[in-house]
Amino acid sequence: MENRSRLDFPKLKDAKTAYFDSAATSLKPSVVIDAIDDYYRRISANIHRGVYDEAYEATRLYEEAREAAASFIGAQTEEIVFTRGATSALNFVASAYGAAHLKEGDEIVLSELEHHSLLLPFQAAAAKAKAKLVYVPLNASGRITAEAVESVLTKRTKIVALAMLTNVFGYRAPIEAIAPLVHARGAVLVVDAAQAALHQKIDVSTLGCDFLAFSGHKMLGPTGIGVLYGKKAILETLEPLEYGGDMNDRVGKFVSEWKDSPFRFEAGTMPIAEAIGLAAAIRYIRQTGIETIEHDTTRLYRYTFALLKKIDGVTIYNADSEAGIVAFNLDRVHPHDAASFYAEQGVAVRAGHHCAQLVMQWLGIEASLRASIAFYNSYSECDRLVEATKEAVRFFQRVGF
Ligand code: PMP
Repeated sequence: MENRSRLDFPKLKDAKTAYFDSAATSLKPSVVIDAIDDYYRRISANIHRGVYDEAYEATRLYEEAREAAASFIGAQTEEIVFTRGATSALNFVASAYGAAHLKEGDEIVLSELEHHSLLLPFQAAAAKAKAKLVYVPLNASGRITAEAVESVLTKRTKIVALAMLTNVFGYRAPIEAIAPLVHARGAVLVVDAAQAALHQKIDVSTLGCDFLAFSGHKMLGPTGIGVLYGKKAILETLEPLEYGGDMNDRVGKFVSEWKDSPFRFEAGTMPIAEAIGLAAAIRYIRQTGIETIEHDTTRLYRYTFALLKKIDGVTIYNADSEAGIVAFNLDRVHPHDAASFYAEQGVAVRAGHHCAQLVMQWLGIEASLRASIAFYNSYSECDRLVEATKEAVRFFQRVGF
């Protein structure tokens, strides 16, 4: 049974490449592309400034996108800050919250599963404040448990920052169970939901996190837009990191005043078309149903995983991924050579450290292949991935790698 959603994605029409890199960036449905196109063709005006019709409409659509992002994750509208992506949202939290709250000897808890977008901003914030980084011990399969998080919490813990769904294994962290433990220590919980946004329902009120970040482009929306959720009471205490147009109230020669959050964190002209595109992506996910998306992804993933697992000469590093991800290598073949072979077969997989070098170190390897499956893939594409893998194993054995 083929997937009806495929018709919604222009790139899949007569696609020559079987795309298995959706964890890097997802494909975009027509409704997203059309929303962006409509803004540029019909509106093309800045927000929060002009009094003519197009300026009003641009402002309305931009602020409606904020409302859509808020309701997508169960937040209040004023708790949503638009950013360039998850990376800039996480940098903002590390810098702004770090500057206000971190002192020498404080502890920041992370895990080796984290993407560099989370790891590096908190490394930098720790270095600046002379705070200490502490790593949650992973269990044998590379997962985080609430007990493991609890085992490293101390009275010096100020921040715990973890991915809701990791980008190499696609493993879920039990955020709901972790949040009360973190709060019991008086620390804040920062959640990287970049991978989670297209795979599971996010509700910050049940998750209990203090900050949460995600990117539009990984959840069917455009590049250049991301969301930072911050609890209202915390956002209100933070200073802006960027200063400029639209974030200020009264400006004086020597001292100026900023708008309330979230507006004081959005300096200069924001990615307006991208916010409108993100709202269209959210509508699309709502209409399709995140449960349907997850169900379709999971059955394609299970089908593919079972077939890949049977192939001799393939090492798979993860099982029961909750994000449709297979992290693997062909034995004795460098993943870049393997990925080039796949590319020649018209199969797009990713090779490298996936911006998660600590995961590679934990596995004791330099790099891996990663095939990430999305709900819009088809069984015949999955078959092509499996066939290309068999071909690759045969080819590299023949040429004596
Ligand atoms: N966190 C995770 C878990 C990710 O997979 C990614 C993107 N690969 C990011 C953060 C960063 O997202 P972006 O590059 O869109 O800012």
